[in-house]
Amino acid sequence: MTRTVYLNGEYLPEHEAKVSIFDRGFLMADGVYEVTSVIDGKLIDFDGHAVRLERSLRELDMAQPISKEDLLAAHRELVRLNEIDEGGVYLQITRGAPADRDFAYPPADTPATVVMFTQSKPGLSANTAAAKGIKVISIEDLRWGRRDIKTVQLLYPSMGKMAAKAAGCDDAWMVEDGAVTEGTSNNAYIVKGNTIITRQLSNDILHGITRAAVLRFAKEAQMKVEERPFSIAEAQEADEAFVTSATTFVMPVVEIDGAQIGDGKQGAVAARLREIYLDESRKAAI
Ligand code: PMP
Repeated sequence: MTRTVYLNGEYLPEHEAKVSIFDRGFLMADGVYEVTSVIDGKLIDFDGHAVRLERSLRELDMAQPISKEDLLAAHRELVRLNEIDEGGVYLQITRGAPADRDFAYPPADTPATVVMFTQSKPGLSANTAAAKGIKVISIEDLRWGRRDIKTVQLLYPSMGKMAAKAAGCDDAWMVEDGAVTEGTSNNAYIVKGNTIITRQLSNDILHGITRAAVLRFAKEAQMKVEERPFSIAEAQEADEAFVTSATTFVMPVVEIDGAQIGDGKQGAVAARLREIYLDESRKAAI
């Protein structure tokens, strides 16, 4: 089945969707994105992603080129057309394609480029990968200072992922001034006793939609949450570690820089949070 994608209001076979070589997303990484998970053919936390998208656009002085209602309709239509049961919808909005390359933004009436496509991932919500957990290495956080804006400048996280692979691991946790900021594409947590520790929100990290939901569920389940920086050394001594993201939900971390975390298996807190998150997300999916 040929994938149907969305480009500026049209639904097209993927090989017919073309974007200009002058597109600011291509030339300048001048664009923002969101990834919304799909479980049972329904969207998880669409509203959270839509709100963060609005914020990313606002922070970059970009107009909102598509209403929230139309965005939702397009997400649902792509899921339907591509028969997605488990997977996600990728959305990217760039500052459009002016007639030439220039550092200055193009006139405000330059139409934005809006792209959406689905990714089918059967078995996404199964616990096979989570039961095993992931291994991470630490790397210096060399990204720019506005990591709260979800831009498509993903080269450094991509390099981090490759460094992890080269070391026989799955991902990298980034460290700045001695403290973990986040994973290459996820928020990072450690657990000590009944306390979940994760870095506080600021411009230093992406404000994860899954993070917000998981911390809410943790508090509702009477777990203690401390939002503060933590070091790799503290993480290596923790009872558990895990990451969250829209595409991995809650994923245990069983090794950090070669040091085994806890008993090297999925921890009880991470397992419980994953279960609650998936249950509640399924109930609220639209
Ligand atoms: N941090 C970074 C750097 C990310 O790229 C992501 C995923 N896009 C996250 C955190 C997790 O955010 P979310 O839970 O909204 O997927």
